[in-house]
Amino acid sequence: MVEANIQSDERPKLPMQGVPQPSKEEVMHLPRVHISTHPVMRHKMTALRDKNTQPPEFYRLVKEIGALIAYEATATLALEKASIETPMSPMVGERLAGGIGVTPILRAGLGLAEGFREVIPDVQVWHLGLRRDEHTLEAMEYYNQLPHKVELQVCYAVDPMLATGGSAIDAINVLKKRGILRLSYVCIIAAPYGLLKLSQTHPDIDIYVAALDESLNDVGYILPGLGDAGDRQFGTF
Ligand code: URA
Repeated sequence: MVEANIQSDERPKLPMQGVPQPSKEEVMHLPRVHISTHPVMRHKMTALRDKNTQPPEFYRLVKEIGALIAYEATATLALEKASIETPMSPMVGERLAGGIGVTPILRAGLGLAEGFREVIPDVQVWHLGLRRDEHTLEAMEYYNQLPHKVELQVCYAVDPMLATGGSAIDAINVLKKRGILRLSYVCIIAAPYGLLKLSQTHPDIDIYVAALDESLNDVGYILPGLGDAGDRQFGTF
């Protein structure tokens, strides 16, 4: 009992205080990092960040941004030939080869996963629950609904905010253990600190970002950011 008290007293309350952070310029050209430059994306990002945007509109925007970024992130997927008949004649078309997976990191990743489903309706959704310890910022797994049989061409781990990178690194570790050959990470806003950590820990994945922000504050929130992406989607303030 005494030990537990000592441990909790010793926990840092401001986990990012005094921690050196890279600048945007230092991370924006990292290999396999793709930062959207699309004007429609920038337009929607401004509405999303606005503190006056209410949860129903916020959730709708997360889905729309998810669909836009899904379109960018799926641009290099492999195709296979498919013979069909149009009403006019037979032809050889193309279909996406193999299954496509999307792993929303609960709960904030749910809206982004819906955006992916609008672009690829038959995407497999693998839910993964990771929670940040508010004091240490370490990721803890509390829910894992990943199938045993894996036949995916690619799986996208999706979470709106890449802050310290803890949950992102953990999610990719979990998916790598499933033997998925190609993995990508998709977020809406990245902080330079988390982007660098993720890219250095998992240099073999692609990382898709709608916007790169300035920094993390002392408690690990992104600046200017948008606040808490889960609370703003689900109205739990
Ligand atoms: N998670 C959020 O929802 N927002 C942040 O700014 C950082 C992590």
